[in-house]
Amino acid sequence: MENYKGGCLCGSVRFELNEPPIWISACHCGTCRKRTGSDYGVSVVVDQSGVKEFTGRTKTHTRTGDSGKDVIYEFCPECGATVRWHIMLAPGRQAFAAGAFDDMSWMAILGEMYTAEAAPWGPLGCDAARPGPPDDDWRAALIEKTKMALGGAP
Ligand SMILES: [Zn+2]
Ligand SMILES: [Zn+2]
Repeated sequence: MENYKGGCLCGSVRFELNEPPIWISACHCGTCRKRTGSDYGVSVVVDQSGVKEFTGRTKTHTRTGDSGKDVIYEFCPECGATVRWHIMLAPGRQAFAAGAFDDMSWMAILGEMYTAEAAPWGPLGCDAARPGPPDDDWRAALIEKTKMALGGAP
């Protein structure tokens, strides 16, 4: 069994998943850039049912995404690390920050988006790449690729 545990920088917030994510993707948009302080954010997307445990107090920051729906970021008020976010466009799912996991050796980033906004050194060269926001074809391709790579969730 892979280690799907993680938490914030100071350890006040901890979580564990009980199944592989639906997909893992990089996003080069301006929000992810500002949020991470780097070129891209990496989302580990899981179904609500795949979250076994989430402990510790978080604060939230809400932002309206390009879709017009809100994205609610949860971060640790002690150390400031963003651990999880909720995309109102996909209410049954949650996204976790890849870097919050204790072990990233099992991860495969098979898709990326907003590559047109990436820094020159940012793009990862994924087959499933979008210059802008995600679309249904991109999501479908990513779910398939992730299943094959991680033996993934249904
Ligand atoms: Zn913390
Ligand atoms: Zn983004």
